[in-house]
Amino acid sequence: MSVRVVARIRPLLGSRELDKDTIVRAEQDSDGKLNIVRIPNPKNEAEEYSFTFNSVYEMETTQEELFTNEVAPHLKSLFNGLDVMIFAYGVTGTGKTHTMRGGLKLAERGIIPRMLSAIYRRGKKVTKDSGGETEVSVSISYYEIYNDKVYDLFEPPEKRSLAGLKVMENNGKNFVVGLSERACDDLKVFEQLYIEANNNRSTAGTKLNAQSSRSHAILTVKVTQANGDEQLISTASAIDLAGSEDNRRTDNNKERLVESASINKSLFVLSSCIDAIGKGEKRIPYRESKMTRILNIGQNNGITIMILNLAPLRSYHLDTLSSLNVSSRAKRIEVREIENEVVFTQPPRKTAPITGTSLQQRQPL
Ligand code: ADP
Ligand code: MG
Repeated sequence: MSVRVVARIRPLLGSRELDKDTIVRAEQDSDGKLNIVRIPNPKNEAEEYSFTFNSVYEMETTQEELFTNEVAPHLKSLFNGLDVMIFAYGVTGTGKTHTMRGGLKLAERGIIPRMLSAIYRRGKKVTKDSGGETEVSVSISYYEIYNDKVYDLFEPPEKRSLAGLKVMENNGKNFVVGLSERACDDLKVFEQLYIEANNNRSTAGTKLNAQSSRSHAILTVKVTQANGDEQLISTASAIDLAGSEDNRRTDNNKERLVESASINKSLFVLSSCIDAIGKGEKRIPYRESKMTRILNIGQNNGITIMILNLAPLRSYHLDTLSSLNVSSRAKRIEVREIENEVVFTQPPRKTAPITGTSLQQRQPL
């Protein structure tokens, strides 16, 4: 199982977000690959931190470019039986939902509708190439995890139990008991179901006094290729994670603290799992949160892509630094201290590598 971590910087929005408040920038490495994110040290703005990812997408990146580069190349593997999992991770307001769901206009559509469309196209091709023998069918399930409880987004909110659905283990794999699965064999049906379910998400949110940024939303697309008695099943999951901001700083009523604790815990376990997978470790701590359990992180045979969404603005400074730290840990990315831009009377310092741990210590969080 391989993990890819990429960063996407969102553009400035509206007239209140100004160029002069931009503190995050993308940079090429020495081979000319755009894969470095730079951000100032909040305690000493003359100094910059630098984080290296598998790739970095700048403000101008279109939905199509991101899909073509990061998702489309894996669909062949999906049809060969591998599971594909795509996460959007980041602070609320950085573009996770935009990246996964996107807007209604064709050019603004996000990864999810584009992926479905590409799956249907490939499915048709597989059937055609087999001379009509291989039948491809697609079904979806869609749920959210809020305060460590699972709610089916195909169920209208009034039919839900507040206790949520149970998670059980079978043959070493975890699954949600009673989660509904909807057959959906073309894009029109998918879009209808998806819109309906997303409405359930926001209604449920109001009822539970939660905003959608307080829950993880998980869409699983099951692709079944059947040929006579033989069946090959694989899944593509697209996950819009809860906001990774540190709510202890901004809001400390009891309800928010409970939410924050469960969000922080599940995001921490997720990054530990990805870290362990990246290192090729045998023990993946996926059992430690419901989200990672249900997704069987590291237990599936597949490809994982984490998209770190970033807002370029100073107002997000500490949260951005913290999410950069988590996702770079998720990939064991080298973290370097960059020489000061300021000119000193003594000879300029060489770029000295520092470890992730020392960066953590230096961080004011
Ligand atoms: P999140 O889900 O992380 O809280 P959203 O996806 O809701 O963030 O994005 C916050 C706002 O920024 C939305 O109005 C969204 O349309 C806009 N936005 C985010 N990313 C982009 C982008 N790449 N291009 C244009 N607008 C974007
Ligand atoms: Mg969102």
